[in-house]
Amino acid sequence: MTTAGKVFLVGAGPGDPDLITLKAIKALQQAEVVLVDDLVNPELLAHCPQARIVHVGKRGGCKSTPQPFINRMLIALAEQGQIVVRLKGGDPFVFGRGGEEMLALRAAGVAYEVIPGMTSGLSACASMEVPATHRGLNHGVTLVTGHTQDGGPLPWQALVASNTTLVIYMGMQHLADISRELIAAGMAADMPCMVVENATRADERALVSSLAAMPMHSHRHQMQSPAMIVVGEVVRLANSARTLQTLEQQGVLTQLEYLQAVNAN
Ligand code: SAH
Repeated sequence: MTTAGKVFLVGAGPGDPDLITLKAIKALQQAEVVLVDDLVNPELLAHCPQARIVHVGKRGGCKSTPQPFINRMLIALAEQGQIVVRLKGGDPFVFGRGGEEMLALRAAGVAYEVIPGMTSGLSACASMEVPATHRGLNHGVTLVTGHTQDGGPLPWQALVASNTTLVIYMGMQHLADISRELIAAGMAADMPCMVVENATRADERALVSSLAAMPMHSHRHQMQSPAMIVVGEVVRLANSARTLQTLEQQGVLTQLEYLQAVNAN
């Protein structure tokens, strides 16, 4: 049975309220109900003053709303004939459980539409002027979670062997393990690494260091979630004016020294 209701699974972008798509804004403007995650910038709700807002995130002292409950709520609202926006930080399909919501809607026969968003990992790189891929430096970029659902190990050897920029989500609680495991799997201890906290927001902070020293520096600067961990040669290209400390201060080759060394070979 089809109903007039519909669910939009919408990416809100990384934090800067200008980094949302026009398509997402159009969906917000026609929404009757908006279910919002806590990583979404509240300023974006200015696009939907007409809508009822339901916060389903973890912060503010509350526990997060269980996923099956969110799925049921989306289905129930759409079946009542409502236009629903499910607004999620970054891109809905990158570590956002958007896939689970879509499958629940599909199984229930509810009309839905997916609107992509700029994922925070790539936005964090761009914000620091770090190209996620750079010809001659790597073969690609890997978006990976810093902890597995079952607590099992990540495929560290494969990640190191991939010669890609590693963009690690949800990794801050495991930063020391991530650093140690990557080095144990063969990555250079002085591989440049960066942590970008609140990427693209007004309170953004970024730290660059070597992979080995990052846990210490991150602790010293009290870098907090939400933050992205980026590991790879491309981190040398970060605009040092935007970071809390520079690689030279860390004893890591600077961008210029590195490029000279590469060219000399
Ligand atoms: N769907 C989201 C990711 C959700 S997982 C996206 O595509 O961006 C949550 C993780 O995303 C956080 O643990 C953090 O690692 C990262 N994150 C989200 N917003 C961020 C931001 N503004 N700056 C840095 N990291 C962010």
